[in-house]
Amino acid sequence: MPSSPSEWPVIDRLVTANQRYAAEFTDPGMDARPVLKVAVVACMDARLDLHAALGLELGDCHTIRNAGGVVTDDVIRSLTISQRALGTRSVVLIHHTGCGLLNLTEDFRHELEMEVGQRPSWAVESFKDADQDVRQSMERVRTSPFLLHTGDVRGFVFDVTTGLLREIDPADGPES
Ligand SMILES: [Zn+2]
Repeated sequence: MPSSPSEWPVIDRLVTANQRYAAEFTDPGMDARPVLKVAVVACMDARLDLHAALGLELGDCHTIRNAGGVVTDDVIRSLTISQRALGTRSVVLIHHTGCGLLNLTEDFRHELEMEVGQRPSWAVESFKDADQDVRQSMERVRTSPFLLHTGDVRGFVFDVTTGLLREIDPADGPES
């Protein structure tokens, strides 16, 4: 391997970092149930450090991430397990400024089908308006028949340039 870690294959860097992490690690003896009884659904964006941005500690919450932080069936699956098997009661939804999904359309799906000869079973879930997509995501959580707790669901847009969350009012319409 090259001598400088920055030139190593990326996964080798991760494995080496893990060995350092484990050397310092002590078993916190935690339960799998999140301490704060909260699940956070957020975009996978590399600029969004959820634990730092929300003051979360190890063991505090479930983090469920995907492209866009959209509430798909698989997110509902995770939230259902989070609430029914692992005791969470609150849901936080986080989209962000400059999201990669803002530049995509459902044409992405069509182009993919043309290229590989198979239609993906999933929707791209692209959006033009992050605020509106947060509202839709809140609505999908609130109306899911599988969830036990839908009374404490709040949605935000994280500004990647300031680090601040802006709360989205579910009552606002798309044009306001
Ligand atoms: Zn994003």
